[in-house]
Amino acid sequence: MHGLMMDMPLLITSIIQHAERVNGDQEIVSVTRDNPRHRYTYREAFVRTRQLANAMGPWGLQRGDRIGTLAWNDYRHLETYYASACSGFVCHTINPRLFPEQLVYIINHAEDRYVFIDPDFVPLAEKLAPECPGVEGWVVLTNAEHMPQTTLPNAICYETLIHGASSDFEWPELDERDACALCYTSGTTGNPKGVLYSHRSTMLHAYATMMPDAMGLSASDVVLPIVPMFHVNAWGNPYSCPMAGSKLVFPGNKMGDGETLSALIKEEQVTMSAGVPTVWLALLAHLKATGKQVESLKRIVVGGAACPLAIAEEFDRYGVVTRVGWGMTEMSPLGSINASDSERGRFSEEEYRKRRLKAGRAIFGVEMKIVGDDGEELPWDGKAYGSLKVRGPWICSGYYKRDADGAHAEAGWFETGDVATIDPDGYMAITDRTKDVIKSGGEWISSIELENVAMSHPKVAEAAVIGHYHPKWSERPLLIVVRKGDGQDLSAAEMLAWFEGKVATWWKPDAVEFVDELPHGATGKIHKVSLREQFKDYSFPGQ
Ligand code: AMP
Repeated sequence: MHGLMMDMPLLITSIIQHAERVNGDQEIVSVTRDNPRHRYTYREAFVRTRQLANAMGPWGLQRGDRIGTLAWNDYRHLETYYASACSGFVCHTINPRLFPEQLVYIINHAEDRYVFIDPDFVPLAEKLAPECPGVEGWVVLTNAEHMPQTTLPNAICYETLIHGASSDFEWPELDERDACALCYTSGTTGNPKGVLYSHRSTMLHAYATMMPDAMGLSASDVVLPIVPMFHVNAWGNPYSCPMAGSKLVFPGNKMGDGETLSALIKEEQVTMSAGVPTVWLALLAHLKATGKQVESLKRIVVGGAACPLAIAEEFDRYGVVTRVGWGMTEMSPLGSINASDSERGRFSEEEYRKRRLKAGRAIFGVEMKIVGDDGEELPWDGKAYGSLKVRGPWICSGYYKRDADGAHAEAGWFETGDVATIDPDGYMAITDRTKDVIKSGGEWISSIELENVAMSHPKVAEAAVIGHYHPKWSERPLLIVVRKGDGQDLSAAEMLAWFEGKVATWWKPDAVEFVDELPHGATGKIHKVSLREQFKDYSFPGQ
């Protein structure tokens, strides 16, 4: 017997309708090239969204057609998100930090019909355009006054496009399983793979991220998404904030700029923010150098890569709670979050220091398991480590326009490519990417844990550990470190001594090499493939 409840599809169109009516006066603030502090309300945003939907009408787009975006976090990008998806098209966000050949591949593979670009990316788009003949128009996200001179074929000024368009628009009735957004993974090998989100998956993910032990969003929050809208939908903030009625503050192209971030936090009274470790390092460096405070900021979510203890403890001093989140493009992205701050009393000081850096508990809606090499499930005892698999309604079941792949070899599960342990109380810790695992004499060593220890040294700016060939142990950890500007006197001996008592003796790196910088990939993560290539001819001392 079916229940007798209304069968309403879960569509992101409902977010527009809700936010406009219920939170219409709430503000959206953006840093853009043509206005360093643009501000308007949700009501105004969605009026313009309908104007954009009308303006796209004559383009002859069909349901499911892809609209690309190469853009920063700002209000015009937000309008493009909603106007395209709610019209029945797919908003394909493109990461501008990928290599040009990957961008060409992605745009052609997705068959983008129009691409919306920030003025900053006009020179890049001019290079891509000859190789992307399927793109019928390039919409520059600016006004007529700031429209750059360009050789782009069919370059359209965004404000001119929507100017005068009617704001009456009847959003089509869509199926909740219809695609609404597309994002390609920033894989380090092979071509990027497309992850195609549906209205339903996006809605459920947004609901889940708002829960108190996740991002805990409310109408009294002011949210600064530093995670890019071009990569996994800024962790759902463009959907969850209008759902919750939170004020949104978009940093535009200043997302890595500590000074702008601290000014936005202070002047807009930001309470919650989310970003990858590198942006927090930039903000903390600025705060330290200037003595500024971030009094309004209550909590941050750090994800996308392991969070060094130094970040969490420095934020403690500013009165900011740090939550580690873990997820992937394939997971919309949020899979787990560490809210150990909300049960702080359970842990001793020492236990808390260890606990707080774990990836945390699965959020409701995501199921996890770890399996060994034989595919058998491993116990949640905090010791067994294995390949992490997940399933849930916002986890991809296959890649866009690609044959079945190894990640989905076990029916109904997605293999994340991460290696993890899970504690009896559900706290999961990522120890490595499968391909980065260090096996010394057949025993496993966690590169992430070693990196955390190295990063806690006050003279270390950034650290990476790779497994390197060793004649006796087959592989041993090699530590590669970037010293802080004022820490250039850090010696190899002092660095290695830092590990004493902090990790098992046989985990200690065999050697340390100092470099000026580490290679980073398109989402800011350390690119270990390049690092291994760089050190392929290296020999450990004494060999
Ligand atoms: P992406 O799809 O680019 O968002 O990358 C996802 C990958 O980033 C995951 O599979 C992890 O390897 C890594 N990652 C994300 N969050 C964390 C975290 N909190 N700790 C360690 N690694 C993380």
